Amino acid sequence: MNRSSHRRMNPLTGEWVLVSPHRANRPWLGQVEKAPPEDLLTYDPDCYLCPRNERAGGARNPDYSSTFVFDNDFSSLLPAVNPAHIDDHPLLVSANERGVCRVVCFTPRHDLTLPELDQITIETIIGTWIDQTVELSAMDFIQYVQIFENKGALMGCSNPHPHSQVWGTQYLANEPAKELEHQKVYMNQRGRALLADYLDEEQRRNERILFSNDHFTALIPYWATWPFETMIIAHRNVAWLSELTSSEISGLAETLQRLTTRYDNLFETSFPYAMGIHQAPFDGRPHPEWILHAHFYPPLLRSATVRKFMAGYEMLVMPQRDITPESAAERLRSLSDLHYKL
Ligand SMILES: [Zn+2]
Ligand SMILES: [Zn+2]
Repeated sequence: MNRSSHRRMNPLTGEWVLVSPHRANRPWLGQVEKAPPEDLLTYDPDCYLCPRNERAGGARNPDYSSTFVFDNDFSSLLPAVNPAHIDDHPLLVSANERGVCRVVCFTPRHDLTLPELDQITIETIIGTWIDQTVELSAMDFIQYVQIFENKGALMGCSNPHPHSQVWGTQYLANEPAKELEHQKVYMNQRGRALLADYLDEEQRRNERILFSNDHFTALIPYWATWPFETMIIAHRNVAWLSELTSSEISGLAETLQRLTTRYDNLFETSFPYAMGIHQAPFDGRPHPEWILHAHFYPPLLRSATVRKFMAGYEMLVMPQRDITPESAAERLRSLSDLHYKL
């Protein structure tokens, strides 16, 4: 493996990351701290996501017993048609955007995160994501549906109650737009899906794969920017969650549970991350170039309290990392699938 500085390209976006493995040897003077254990109640009377509680907008949650979905009380996007937008200068460009923002509570339990839920419950969550994707994409103005979870205060998530979000938008924006373009070009040039070829190569090399089951593989991508960034990639050429068979849904649930358990075990803390599932757009066209996948972007670097910052060079030039994706994979591979709290 390359031990000198080099850069790697993300073929999904065309962007580069600088890898500086020799810097990982520099002395670290900071302490390796554990986060104080968070003792959460199973039900919190002050939580706006717990069953029966009142939300900020005045609505009251039902006494739900499984997943629970509601329109975000402070939605960033609204479905209403806006008045036409007029730009009067070629450098001052804007466009209307309509959409729907929903919250999906994973479970009535305030204190249990994804890795602490059983596989059947995670399958139910995936089922809810599928239902929401189908419902939102059926709205005539919605062309893209993003499912994502911000977990932990480090990711700006103020409420520990386990939940994700589903946003349906009128337009395909930055990240999925880049990925669509690069996957299309690859398909046109090679006649195969980019992520199918990538997965084949990763399986052949077996340096960055964490684990696989029959339907999904979890790995650290070659071009990862965050220290413990991972991807989950579908084995079959499926572009949308709604195409998954019931055994693939079970396979995805198992993968999510194993991956998030290993994340928690890494620093023996409830591991923060931003996670999202990338599906093809809903533009009425087939998308053979797109393979369903998920990205996990966790900020932690060295312990439960030491995080990676995307600072000067990252903001001004390109992301940079010290620990190689291969050694990060080695660490995550060596961990148990049994949660450290059990
Ligand atoms: Zn709660
Ligand atoms: Zn993606």
